[in-house]
Amino acid sequence: MSDVRIDDLPVRDELRGKSPYGAPQLDVPVRLNTNENPYPLPEPLVERITERVREAARTLNRYPDRDAVELRTKLAEYLTDTSGYQVGLADVWAANGSNEVIQQLLQTFGGPGRTAIGFEPSYSMHALISRGTGTGWISGPRNEDFTIDLAAAERAIAEHRPDVVFVTTPNNPTGNAVPPETVLALYEAAQAAKPSMVVVDEAYIEFSHGDSLLPLLDGRPHLVISRTMSKAFGAAGLRLGYLAAHPAVVDAVQLVRLPYHLSAVTQATALAALEHTGTLLGYVEQLKAERDRLVTELREIGYEVTASDANFVQFGRFTDSHEAWRKILDRGVLVRDNGVPGWLRVTAGTPEENDAFLDAVRALKKEQS
Ligand code: PMP
Repeated sequence: MSDVRIDDLPVRDELRGKSPYGAPQLDVPVRLNTNENPYPLPEPLVERITERVREAARTLNRYPDRDAVELRTKLAEYLTDTSGYQVGLADVWAANGSNEVIQQLLQTFGGPGRTAIGFEPSYSMHALISRGTGTGWISGPRNEDFTIDLAAAERAIAEHRPDVVFVTTPNNPTGNAVPPETVLALYEAAQAAKPSMVVVDEAYIEFSHGDSLLPLLDGRPHLVISRTMSKAFGAAGLRLGYLAAHPAVVDAVQLVRLPYHLSAVTQATALAALEHTGTLLGYVEQLKAERDRLVTELREIGYEVTASDANFVQFGRFTDSHEAWRKILDRGVLVRDNGVPGWLRVTAGTPEENDAFLDAVRALKKEQS
């Protein structure tokens, strides 16, 4: 039996020979490879989660609120409070991580016979979820400095007429934010070509020097802003992502969502976390300062760094980035090799973790020069 492999099964053609998403989960002293928040949730929040989950446990014999009304209302309040742009329950949808939000969007607006475009290097799951939903993937261009080449992007949209356009800002793995004018121009190009849906992935927006693009939703029913509690809220283990868009988009994704997809435990935990937004955003400020320190010190050591608006930094250049990744790992620090030739990515950790990382790359620089 054990000699049966994936490709011996009647899997869909487009899955043959492919590998699953997989950042290594290694047991090393300093793990700075998956853009997690290094700070565990504060103890009063852990207590509040326990209370809320205990309460939810009493009615686990029943299905959860299918429409997650209380949670979506609180997420809408969070968005309104932090952006100044009025968002309500009808404009917000939530799912198990923003990956599931993206999957639901692709099930709704992509699918067989349709295509999605992203500007690469960018978040690899956009392409993978496209493949998983039978959506054709188009790899759009970027400039040498990892900014979006607007003219080339507009040409690609006009030529391929994709059904879904992904814009990640701040971008992962490069860290740079996309100017609002560029997003607007891409939206216009996408409307002229099809019209198509434009999904702005703001997973890291709380770490940005700039503002959320939420106000752009006004009068743009084909725009979707995707967000997550995995990064700024320090709750990657919770699996809670959400989107803000025109209420018609929220209605549309309900055509594909599984009934009761958000468990009562998930809803209770997310609600508890939202009660502690102030404290959690305090950690974000510390991480932003550490991110800026990483940028400065990496440059002082002699590395090239891509300007970062996220909780991670892309640095290089290496003639062999995989070898450099391995040498940093040998010094007990796990960073990420995203397959961008010449570059690696490090997540901002605690000051002590960042010191350990900086010591490792300082030693590497000495060894390589
Ligand atoms: N979007 C981007 C750009 C990301 O980097 C990530 C996580 N690495 C996600 C979405 C998915 O996050 P989650 O499913 O944890 O919300």
